[in-house]
Amino acid sequence: MGFVTIDKQKQKERKGSERVNDWNEYKLPFPEQELKDQAARCMDCGTPYCQMGVEINRSTSGCPLYNLIPEWNDLVYRGLWQEAYQRLIKTNNFPEFTSKACPAPCEGSCTAGLVSDPVSIKSIEKAIIDKAFDEGWVKPEPPLRRTGKHVAVIGSGPAGLAAADQLNKIGHSVTVYERDDRIGGLLMYGIPNMKIEKYAVERRVKLLQAEGIQFKTNVNVGKDVTMEELHQTFDAVVLATGAGKHRELSIEGRQLKGIHPAMSYLTASTKHLLDPSFTLDDDLNAKGKNVIVIGGGDTGADCVATALRQGCTSVVQFGKHGELPKERATSNPWPENPRIFSLDYAYEEAKEVLGRDPREYYVATNAFIGNEDGHVVSLTTDTFKQGEKSEMRTWDADLVLIAIGFEGVEDAVFEDMGVEKLGGTIKADNKTYQTSTDGVFACGDARRGASLIVWAIQEGRKAACAVDLYLDKKLAASGH
Ligand SMILES: Cc1cc2nc3c(=O)[nH]c(=O)nc-3n(C[C@H](O)[C@H](O)[C@H](O)COP(=O)(O)OP(=O)(O)OC[C@H]3O[C@@H](n4cnc5c(N)ncnc54)[C@H](O)[C@@H]3O)c2cc1C
Ligand code: SF4
Repeated sequence: MGFVTIDKQKQKERKGSERVNDWNEYKLPFPEQELKDQAARCMDCGTPYCQMGVEINRSTSGCPLYNLIPEWNDLVYRGLWQEAYQRLIKTNNFPEFTSKACPAPCEGSCTAGLVSDPVSIKSIEKAIIDKAFDEGWVKPEPPLRRTGKHVAVIGSGPAGLAAADQLNKIGHSVTVYERDDRIGGLLMYGIPNMKIEKYAVERRVKLLQAEGIQFKTNVNVGKDVTMEELHQTFDAVVLATGAGKHRELSIEGRQLKGIHPAMSYLTASTKHLLDPSFTLDDDLNAKGKNVIVIGGGDTGADCVATALRQGCTSVVQFGKHGELPKERATSNPWPENPRIFSLDYAYEEAKEVLGRDPREYYVATNAFIGNEDGHVVSLTTDTFKQGEKSEMRTWDADLVLIAIGFEGVEDAVFEDMGVEKLGGTIKADNKTYQTSTDGVFACGDARRGASLIVWAIQEGRKAACAVDLYLDKKLAASGH
């Protein structure tokens, strides 16, 4: 019943105006005693909605990994950190990623949140995994025996890595193919360094390698290796190729220089950060520029934070919806994920550095305007204020980033892998994860559409289970 007497503490962060001068993570560790107090706020309510992991009204409620939250809260409160770590990894392959970047739908459905602030679940998860790494409890644990079965995983984002980890633990021999030069999918190129420092991805990849998983980078499956070749070598194939086909904004002037999809911008920024010999194209550098981000979501927020670190002159982010309410609306009751106003890290930084929240609401972009060199210089918008006449505005823009979401899986995946489509994603059963091709499975964003790390890990785990069952049946059918 600690929540009655102890207030929720927010994870401390470095000051916005200070952290925009580097690319390091912006969250600070919780002092151990404070953290134990926070864990004591959990009432062990008996029906832990925090770990239910379901979708209500198209939003996630509770942890999709069914993390055993009240159990590790109690263990942390009692100072039994190693036991807490053991509980945590029963359900979550990569707590070091979720505890840094998960939007924590667990907290939105925490029972304490009905009458008080929810338990600081994500901060507790972070403290457990950070301590486990610091204390050397996270060690490679290769399987004791090999099954003789071989599985190829295409794509090395959280879904592919979770599937590979689970299959390898069972004893199957796993090879992960990645077309990029580094492993990690959007954990590496997509989510910026200040949210997930890339050492954390590389550290996990080294552990998985030491456990026997093989990684092949710079291999574009479908082009460099065909699916036919994979079928000859492997007993099963898991497609975890993500949903990287971005939405386009086909309006007047789109062909002008200086207008880029958000992902090209974010990827170039991280590549340059990790390898300064990788030249950052001047057109993808926000330094000294007026930046406009089109799209009000999290990818747009990451663009804002990146532009601030590159030294932009100004940054504005357009969203087509209105500002969220400060409190839950009656149409958004607990345990639904709360749709309420918050000042994300990027907006806090923009407020401190440039003096204003960069978000503009109810904005629709009409056209881009260029100069004689064919470079964007401004754009025009219609601004719809509810109940008011629309207002036409012109904005200075030297760099425009389009962050209006993802349509689904890239066309090449359907052309090269011979699997059927369902909407924009790979058609695969939500229990067997089996695609339209025998022995080929799909998981993560490639199957469910652009989503979250926590869902990608869940899908990778479940797809691995399905592959294992499939291999068992194959083994039984062959009389072994
Ligand atoms: C900018 C941005 C920020 C985000 N921030 C967050 C966040 O803070 N929190 C959160 O929970 N989620 C966040 N997300 C969403 C999250 O990153 C994704 O839901 C998650 O990474 C999906 O995992 P995945 O493994 O399915 O696919 P991905 O991570 O997309 O990985 C797919 C991989 O497959 C590879 N691939 C594709 N085709 C081939 C091929 N033919 N051959 C070989 N390799 C191939 C790709 O190169 C890629 O590496 C963010 C997404 C973006 C775009
Ligand atoms: S993975 Fe996300 S939803 Fe699950 S406990 Fe951690 S922060 Fe909460």
